[in-house]
Order: sequence, then structure tokens, then C-alpha cells
Amino acid sequence: MAERFLLFLLFLWDLKQVTNKTMRIITLIIIHCSAVYPWQVSGVREIDRWHRERGWKKGCGYHYVVRRDGTVETGRPLEKIGAHCLNHNRHSIGICYEGGLDSKGKPADTRTEAQKQVMRELLEHLHLQFPKAIITGHNTFNPMKACPCFDASSEYSDLQP
Ligand SMILES: [Zn+2]
Repeated sequence: MAERFLLFLLFLWDLKQVTNKTMRIITLIIIHCSAVYPWQVSGVREIDRWHRERGWKKGCGYHYVVRRDGTVETGRPLEKIGAHCLNHNRHSIGICYEGGLDSKGKPADTRTEAQKQVMRELLEHLHLQFPKAIITGHNTFNPMKACPCFDASSEYSDLQP
């Protein structure tokens, strides 16, 4: 009887372990730009407001936003599903850099050296954590979009699975 009770306790413990595994399976890391003019500010705070205005109650749909000065801001926690790429949110991480439009409003790779460096460091870190995840740009899934205005798949070819 006592043995049964112990088994039952172990069963509960296992159940707890299983439900504690909150991290999602990540197969994709999708790169975005915030599609703003060079003088526009778009950190997590602003993006959070824009996404709420779109009716997304959970706010900022990206997991990371990389500011022009290279500051990394965290949006949604990694274990939470983002809102950044139609049909590909469940198993992905969304990273957005601040920029993506030139002064005329045309899509352009406006990444600063600081952004390039920090994004690479962030991706190196994520690649260690999720070595099977493919790194690619938003435009891979939506060719109508210029986002992120550079060829992410080839730029990070050394960090692909
Ligand atoms: Zn995008």
C-alpha cells in the first residue's frame, strides 16, 4: 500500500516535470524589420502599443527587438508563441531590428554596425540553444513583403542547422 502511495507521488512528480516543460519546440528563427523611417523610434514599447492597436491583446508580437544603438529589448518571453509571421508563429522566434525604410519610405537595409553585430551575437546564442532552428527572413514566407530587407538565410548561413 505504501509502495502504491509512493508510486502515486512519483507519478505526480513526473506530471509536474512534464507540465514544467513550458519551452516550445523551435524550428525557425524569423528576422524582421520594424519598417520605420530613419527618424522613427520603434522599441518594444512602441511596437507593443502598435500591436495592441491592431487588436493583439498580448502586445508586442516579437521576442526580441534590436534598437539602432545595438540595445536588445525583450518582447514576448521565448516560451510564449509570438505574433510576427502568419502561419509560422507556433514554432518560431521573432527578432525585429529597428529600421527597414530609407528616408523616402522605400524598404532598405538600414542596419547599423551595432545592430549587425548584436543580431549576430543574439543569433549565435540562440543557435546554441536551438541548434535545429533555421534562420530566415520574413520575406521567405511572404514574398510580397520586403521585410527584413536583407537576405537573412545567407547572411547567417554559418548558423544554420
Ligand atoms: Zn516582418
